[in-house]
Amino acid sequence: MKKAVFFDRDGVINRDYGYVGTLERFEFLPSVKEALADIKAMGYATILVTNQSGIARGLYTVDDFDTVTEFMQGELSKTGAQFDGIYFCPHHPQASVAQFRCECTCRKPKPEMFFWAQKEHDLDLEHSIMVGDHASDIEAAKSAGVKNLFLIGEHLQTDGPLVPEAQKYADLATLVAAMKQNAITLV
Ligand SMILES: [Mg+2]
Ligand SMILES: [Zn+2]
Repeated sequence: MKKAVFFDRDGVINRDYGYVGTLERFEFLPSVKEALADIKAMGYATILVTNQSGIARGLYTVDDFDTVTEFMQGELSKTGAQFDGIYFCPHHPQASVAQFRCECTCRKPKPEMFFWAQKEHDLDLEHSIMVGDHASDIEAAKSAGVKNLFLIGEHLQTDGPLVPEAQKYADLATLVAAMKQNAITLV
């Protein structure tokens, strides 16, 4: 079994403009490409787990999401930093698109996406790592049995108190710098 680092997408990998479904709205956060390459060099599988309710809301389509994913992976692959696995939830209970209107088991804070990744990549969930920017990311990972939980980004003030079990860092680059210096505690 392999350890993974699970990432939320919007607000962790790219700037969260809200419902990012087009290339025009997709912008990598600073130092993310380098950080992802560093994490792969440490031997972790890199797995993206992202809620994409913009699809359910009719703001963009699965094809649009795939286009953004292809661009993201293409950019990352230039430095060998592409994700090893990508999982997304297109659902929402109040979706305007009937096809995606449901109480699914994949939308974070539910953990199903982590279990799909576990099966496909033979992952050791307990010793894996979650990096998210909302409490729901941390809750999903925790429900999946991931023990190393990291909250980063713009919502530390509001979401931090909701997930006291998560270690807090300003951004991905700062977290990875600490990992490289063995300055973080991991299970
Ligand atoms: Mg996010
Ligand atoms: Zn879902």
